[in-house]
Amino acid sequence: MGVEKNNFIPLSVPTIKGNEWKYVKECLDTEWVSSVGQYVDRFEKDICQFTGSKYAVACVNGTSALHIALQLAGVKPGDEVIVPTVTFIAPVNTIRYLGAEPVFMDCDDFFNIDIEKTEEFIKQETEYKEGLTINKTTGSTIRAIVPVHMFGNAVNMERILPVCNERNIMIVEDATESLGTYYIEGSIKNKHTGTIGQLGCYSFNGNKIITTGGGGMIVTDDIGHAKKAKYLTTQAKDDEVRFVHNEVGYNYRLTNIQAALGVAQLERLSDFINIKKDNYNLYKKNIDTIQGLHLAEVPGYANNNHWMYPLFVEKVEYGMDREGLMQHLSNNGIQTRPLWYLNHLQKPYIKSQGYKIEKAYELLAKTLNIPCSTNLTERDILKVVRVLKQ
Ligand SMILES: *Cc1c(COP(=O)(O)O)cnc(C)c1O
Repeated sequence: MGVEKNNFIPLSVPTIKGNEWKYVKECLDTEWVSSVGQYVDRFEKDICQFTGSKYAVACVNGTSALHIALQLAGVKPGDEVIVPTVTFIAPVNTIRYLGAEPVFMDCDDFFNIDIEKTEEFIKQETEYKEGLTINKTTGSTIRAIVPVHMFGNAVNMERILPVCNERNIMIVEDATESLGTYYIEGSIKNKHTGTIGQLGCYSFNGNKIITTGGGGMIVTDDIGHAKKAKYLTTQAKDDEVRFVHNEVGYNYRLTNIQAALGVAQLERLSDFINIKKDNYNLYKKNIDTIQGLHLAEVPGYANNNHWMYPLFVEKVEYGMDREGLMQHLSNNGIQTRPLWYLNHLQKPYIKSQGYKIEKAYELLAKTLNIPCSTNLTERDILKVVRVLKQ
């Protein structure tokens, strides 16, 4: 078939066409390249302004942000944390970093944690004793929950909040894929994903909607959490001059160079979201006419950042299964990805508890993510559609 290299359409690559060069050059010219500098502070301020969060603390990546956020939520060895089985594995791993265990939940049609089953689990499978939610099966304390806003789809946080508040379960939002998504109705109207729970985390990895190469951010409205996050991510220095440390800290601070990239990328975020939305609509209009294929819907209660475009492949109607379609697209120079393998089936977590996991298997079998970069042209999208039709 002979695919020319310049015809290759990748799944998700960044667009670096704004002030990135200018700001990074300024870091190099002024020799402020490391983890202190005006761009780190500015990036944190800009994220606060964009998301409406009171405080933001930059981290080396989204995974380190989640690690620290869960520690701040009080997760200790022997505790348990509720997490969806459908997610990139990072939030699950951070639970283990703290010596705690995940309890896996099923997902809904938006790939998000199934709220109804989560509520049911908390009400029926746990008991509330002396201010703690105890898992009846294991006897362990369920300290926190990590709702992951999958592919930019907002989790219905309005539904999760009351039961978590009632049961003293801390909420650490994994908003690494949903920067820019905000609610448009209900009691959390206008609030951004990541700013509803006690703590939220963003990622600026190369495949996310904006990138710093690698990077992350913790957001919170609690000044105590913010101060502690900064302390823990900068080696827990209690005396800057004599290097006295009263706790185990981490070297999790973002560098000024990366933050400079972040400031420039954030300037473009609203444009990126508009492009992603237009491309989603163009894909949807064309794909929904193909029998056996449809682009996943997004929740109506939020304005979505449309980070990723999951496609459902109905094997019988389409005449080919997901694996076959992935190969067919690859043969035509189009990169796609299936859903991440379910976390409750991953080797390190095979013994962890899962609750009524059903839908996740169905979505695992039929989901295919198609190219979603902000630099896609109409021609690229129509090519993907054409290959889908062949
Ligand atoms: C990307 C991602 C992370 C981790 O972010 P990194 O910056 O790559 O460490 C965590 N959770 C989810 C759901 C992600 O997609």
